[in-house]
Amino acid sequence: MSEVRVRFPPSPTGYLHIGGARTAILNWLYARKHHGKFILRIEDTDTERSTQESIEGILDGLTWLGIDWDEGPYFQTDFTNDHIAAAEKMIANGNAYRCFCTKEELEAKREATLAAKQTVKYDGTCRHLTPDEIAAKQAQGQPSVIRFRVPDKEGIVAYEDKVLGRIERRFVDIEDFVIVRSNGKPLYLLCNVVDDIRDRITHIIRGQDHLTNTIRQVLLYEALEAQIPVFAHMPLTLDLNKAKISKRSHGEIVAVQFYRAKGFIPWALVNFLVLLGWSPGDDREIFTKEELIEAFTLERINKSHAIFNYRKDDPKFFTDPKAININAQYLRTMPIAEIGELVKKELQEAKLWDDTYDTDKKEWYLQTLDMIRDRFHTLKDFTTLGRAYFADDFDIEEAALTKNLLKYPELKNWLPMLADRFEALPEFTNESAEQAAREFAEEIGVKPGIPINASRAVITGLVKGPSMFELFTHLGREKVVARLRNAAKYFE
Ligand code: GLU
Repeated sequence: MSEVRVRFPPSPTGYLHIGGARTAILNWLYARKHHGKFILRIEDTDTERSTQESIEGILDGLTWLGIDWDEGPYFQTDFTNDHIAAAEKMIANGNAYRCFCTKEELEAKREATLAAKQTVKYDGTCRHLTPDEIAAKQAQGQPSVIRFRVPDKEGIVAYEDKVLGRIERRFVDIEDFVIVRSNGKPLYLLCNVVDDIRDRITHIIRGQDHLTNTIRQVLLYEALEAQIPVFAHMPLTLDLNKAKISKRSHGEIVAVQFYRAKGFIPWALVNFLVLLGWSPGDDREIFTKEELIEAFTLERINKSHAIFNYRKDDPKFFTDPKAININAQYLRTMPIAEIGELVKKELQEAKLWDDTYDTDKKEWYLQTLDMIRDRFHTLKDFTTLGRAYFADDFDIEEAALTKNLLKYPELKNWLPMLADRFEALPEFTNESAEQAAREFAEEIGVKPGIPINASRAVITGLVKGPSMFELFTHLGREKVVARLRNAAKYFE
C-alpha cells in the first residue's frame, strides 16, 4: 500500500474550534498509526475573512495540543494557478463550461421554481453554448462563471465511506455547481480537490457537514482523472438540544484556547476530543499517546452525532463534565515530574514561583503537588485552591470560614494557644503535632476535630485537603504557628 497522507485544511477565519481540533487530531492519529504524513494546509482563499491572527492561533493551538505536522503549512492562495489550470482542463475536456447567466436572471428563475414548488437547480441555459457564442459574449465583455457539467444522463455518483458505508446520489439531483467565480476566483470545492490531488492525499477524514461537498468532489476527481481518496466522515458535535456547537450560541467554550486558559493538560483535552466521535470498542477512557495511536481505526469512528454535554446553568462545570473529569484523572495519575513542569508555568504566571523549587526545595515542591493534586480538576487549582502552599496571602473558602471557624467563636483564642503548644514541642513531627493537638482538645473540653478542622481552615483556606498532621510538618512549624496566631483576623 502506498504511504498514508492525510491533511488538516482549516480556513483561517477564526480561532481553533474544538471541532476543528478534533478533525486535526483524528487525521494525525491515522497518520501516526500508519507511519504516514500529516499535512497542514491553510485554506486562505477567502481573503476577506482570512486573518494572520487566525493562522497564528491555529498553529499555536495545534502546537499546544502536541499535534505536529510533517509538511506545511501550505497556503492555498499560493496555488491559484493550479486551480485555474484544472478548471480550464475541465472546460477543454467538456467537464465544465462558462455560464453567462446574470445574478438577476438566476434569481428570477429561482423564484419561479420555488413558486412552482420544485427543487431549485441551475437549468443549464449555458450548457450548450457554441464556441462562437461564447467568444461573442466575451467580446461584449459579459462576465462569466465556470460551472461543472454534471453528467446529463441517468446514473449515480457513488463512493464507499469508511464510516457511513456506500453513499450515492443521482446525477439528476446534483446541480451544475460553480467552480470559478466571475471575478476569476476559484471556489472551495475545486481548490480543495486540486490541492488534495497535488498533495497526494490518500484519506480524507472530516465532519459529516461536508457530505454534500464530498459527492460533488467525487465528480471533480473523476473529471480530473485522479484517484478518489478514501473518505471517512465523522459525526458532528451537538449540544444537549441537538444544535451544532458554535461560538455564537456557546461562546468561548468552543475554542481550544479556552481550555488552555482554564488549566487543561493538553493531552487530556486531546483524549476528551477523540472520544467525541470515536470509541475504542471497550470501556477505556484514558489513553496515552501510544495507546491511542495503537487503538485508533477509522472503522470505529461513530456514525451518530456526539453530544457535548454542557450545562450553562451549573457553574461548577464550566464545560462538559467529562472533559473536566478526564483532566482531573490526568492530574492524579501523571508522573509528578511532568505535573511539576506544568504547574511551574502556572506558578510563574501567578507570580508564585520560587526558583528554589527547581533546586533546594525541589523535593518539597513535588511533594506538595503530590499531596494536593488528588482533589484538583485543572492546573489553575494549584494557584487558586492551592495558593496557601505557595504564598502567605490566600483566601479562605466560605465553607471553611463558616463551618470550621466562625461556628466556634472561642477558636479565636484557642488557635493561638495551640500555636504556643506547637512552638514549645522539642520536635515538630506528624506524631508530636497530633498528640499535642489531641491533648489540647481534651484540655479545653472539645472534640479534637474542632481545633484540627479550624487549623486546616486557617492554614490552607480549605475545608478539605491532605492529612492534617502531614500537612503541618510539610508546611513547617514556622508557617503553621504564624497562621494559627493570625487566626484572630477571621473573627473581626
Ligand atoms: N477549509 C475547509 C474547512 O475548514 C476544509 C474542509 C475539508 O475539506 O476538510 O471546512
